Amino acid sequence: MQFLDVPTILQVTALFNLMSALAWLALAQVFRVAPRAGRLMAGFHLLYVMTLRQQEAAAGWPPPLRQAMTEFGLLGCSVLLLLALRRMLRSRQRSHDIASIAGLGAAAIAAGLAGGQALVPQLASTACVAALALLSTREVVRGLAGRLSRPVIACTVLPFALLAALSSAHLVELLLDPSWAEAVAADRLPSALRASLLFVITAGITLDLISLMIWRVIARIQHLTERDTLTGAMNRRAFEQALVEAQGLLQRGHRFALVMIDIDHFKRVNDTHGHAAGDAALQHCVRIWQTGLREVDRLGRLGGEEFCALLPLAAADDLDTAATIAERLRAGLSAQPLRWHELELPLSASFGVALPVAGDAQGQVGMARADAELYRAKAEGRNRVCAATHLQELAAA
Ligand code: GH3
Ligand code: MG
Ligand code: MG
Repeated sequence: MQFLDVPTILQVTALFNLMSALAWLALAQVFRVAPRAGRLMAGFHLLYVMTLRQQEAAAGWPPPLRQAMTEFGLLGCSVLLLLALRRMLRSRQRSHDIASIAGLGAAAIAAGLAGGQALVPQLASTACVAALALLSTREVVRGLAGRLSRPVIACTVLPFALLAALSSAHLVELLLDPSWAEAVAADRLPSALRASLLFVITAGITLDLISLMIWRVIARIQHLTERDTLTGAMNRRAFEQALVEAQGLLQRGHRFALVMIDIDHFKRVNDTHGHAAGDAALQHCVRIWQTGLREVDRLGRLGGEEFCALLPLAAADDLDTAATIAERLRAGLSAQPLRWHELELPLSASFGVALPVAGDAQGQVGMARADAELYRAKAEGRNRVCAATHLQELAAA
């Protein structure tokens, strides 16, 4: 296989990293897209260029100082990359693991340099790069599992896994043949294959981070178009869409129930304590209901203080299961008053539960039945759950 000569590959790599750093900075500073992750990525690319080009930049410096730049540079690049990845994936993982690996690695590099050893600092930095690349691989798998398809996750993880493999292989080389360390310390250029692989990995990682950023932006836009801005519940359009999809799946045996919800005497909250209290009450209700609902359930705000929950049912479940969940939501709200400027405002809501009807593409029949039950709950005194038990057989037909 014919490779470009190594200095050219290194120059292309440096240029690519410089341009990437500029692009990330522009995205972060000018367009405010993923600003923290973008700044960390810009830092990664710039540090990588400096580490790559230290031979020219630091020519004539004492060899230990130059080796220090290389080893600390590589360690710093891996740290910045993993931090950027965690930011981009909005990982909640604390950075203790990164700090421990980087701290140990830096101490070993410093000790090796102080002892005049060429091998120890290289072993330390290579081991850290391998460990941090492995952590990055795990981070991608964890962050994307269940959200993107397996082939997409596999492609995304590939550059990080390659980096971990390449660093591990280099670690073995260093251990088996310590003369390697002298060669690297003497600024001998890497082989064309190694230089090309490193370029491909860097480009792959950059493309990965850009794809993750685009995915994040799309997810944000989707969230904004599907969510009610005040409460964070689904908005009416998104809920109706979910209902149409659920009706489609009903034909294939995926059962569900609808729970229509209306806050009791909500107008009084507005009239007595002001519109802001009303808004806070709406947020309070949704917060309580979201914690009472299961992961599979959907809650939509249909308008004003009216909500609807779509509850998927297992084959053995029936209207009673849905009524039990609705009762949990009712009891949760009535047990937790809204705290509003030193006051405790008791809140309650009425609930109507019904099953959908097969063949009703838009789900209007199920909604109307749940609505009728809601009005029965209002008429019977509010703060209660009413279920369309008399319609169960008909709905299942
Ligand atoms: P009921 O128990 O019969 O349901 O009585 P209610 O007072 O809850 O119902 P009504 O329909 O009379 O009043 C609903 C009120 O909800 C009227 C409207 O001003 C208020 N509202 C609708 N949307 C919002 C909102 O986004 N924020 C606030 N603060 N109030 C809202
Ligand atoms: Mg109401
Ligand atoms: Mg109402």
